[in-house]
Amino acid sequence: MNINEVNFDRYYIWHPYSSITKPLKTYHVVSAKKCKLKLINGKKLIDGMSSWWTVIHGYNHPKINQAIINQIKKVSHVMFGGITHSPAIKLCKKIIKLTPKGLECVFLSDSGSVSIEVALKMALHYWFSKNERKKVKFLSLRGGYHGDTFGALSVCDPKNSMHNIYQGYLPNQEFTNTFDRKFNEKWESGDDLNLVKLIEKHHKKLAAVIIEPIVQGVGGMNFYHKQYLISIKKLCKFYKILLIVDEIATGFGRTGKLFACNYSKITPDILCIGKALTGGAITLAATITKRKVSETICNKKTPEFMHGPTFMANPLSCAASCANLSLIEEGKWIQQVKFIYQEMCKYLYPLIEHSYVKDVRILGAIGVVETKFFVNLENIQNWFVRHGAWIRPFRKLIYLIPPYIISSYELKFLIKLISLSLNDDKNFLYIKN
Ligand SMILES: *Cc1c(COP(=O)(O)O)cnc(C)c1O
Repeated sequence: MNINEVNFDRYYIWHPYSSITKPLKTYHVVSAKKCKLKLINGKKLIDGMSSWWTVIHGYNHPKINQAIINQIKKVSHVMFGGITHSPAIKLCKKIIKLTPKGLECVFLSDSGSVSIEVALKMALHYWFSKNERKKVKFLSLRGGYHGDTFGALSVCDPKNSMHNIYQGYLPNQEFTNTFDRKFNEKWESGDDLNLVKLIEKHHKKLAAVIIEPIVQGVGGMNFYHKQYLISIKKLCKFYKILLIVDEIATGFGRTGKLFACNYSKITPDILCIGKALTGGAITLAATITKRKVSETICNKKTPEFMHGPTFMANPLSCAASCANLSLIEEGKWIQQVKFIYQEMCKYLYPLIEHSYVKDVRILGAIGVVETKFFVNLENIQNWFVRHGAWIRPFRKLIYLIPPYIISSYELKFLIKLISLSLNDDKNFLYIKN
């Protein structure tokens, strides 16, 4: 990147969660293949992030690429109002087949946040149609993350997503405390008592509970006990509250199951998927409901559901997603995720002994090193790039969510670098809390 481009980027272009006046350094990628990113200076980086959970089969996958090329020759976009097409039909068949049994009405949209907006609107519309006008609030988990648009933001952790900035506009929701009982701990009766109390107290005004299953992503990369989901499902049924499960990060094998809610063997009323849905090639998300939910929304009084993105069911996205889901159906991911899990248990877990490390947790193809100090993002990012890796920590979390196709050599390389990064004091801010 020449100096003008660097300056242009810094001065004119927003990046995710960034400042326009004090931007952090960005790295200029020119191409990517399998598990490697290539920078403009020729340097290659082994990727530990799957571009935020998306690129599960690696970059530049020939089958996904070919699907897009084939589709682009036919039609790259056509409106979905009053029109349908094979890529959408084929994709929705696959989505219905792969997602938990009972989910069967599919609403396609452009991004994860929008799929959450659709889910929240559907839940409100459902109770409106049933003439239950008091059920207008949502319950979610502290530390949760569901996207950055306003509806989604309202059910995100209030502190992490800075609700204070938008006060006066943002609706107030109910929050339960972050779940204490971890994924692999023993469940004790009473662990869900706070949850039970809260739902008991608020059920009359709750349209839905919304939750990330098993893994809380941005909220701290915590893995909680599967019994919580079973309890929530039961409580929702008993108190007549809808259950929305957000599998945007966890879906398509990342946690070791095809969907994280399979650990608890539950089917939500509404499911949101996105991120890895197209294998990271192009943007697409979906909101899938039980038939009863969609049919109630569209009863005699209120026939139409008022949402319809311009690029709904974009044929290129649907074609890419079909190819991606065919790869999922082939089933290689099961062995790949298991392998990543085993390697991380062997090589990443021992970092728990390091004096800067508070915890190491591993589930499926997710490995998390929680440090005692905040990372100095600019320094540690630069450190990883200098050493040939793309790892992007946040707060006190250095984590790996690599493409499932990562080789043993590449994975060990990333783990080794994490271990070495802990020894460089410039990578941390010495604020404890
Ligand atoms: C990324 C994410 C979203 C938002 O998806 P976008 O495509 O970024 O809008 C919502 N929920 C979870 C759990 C996510 O990880």
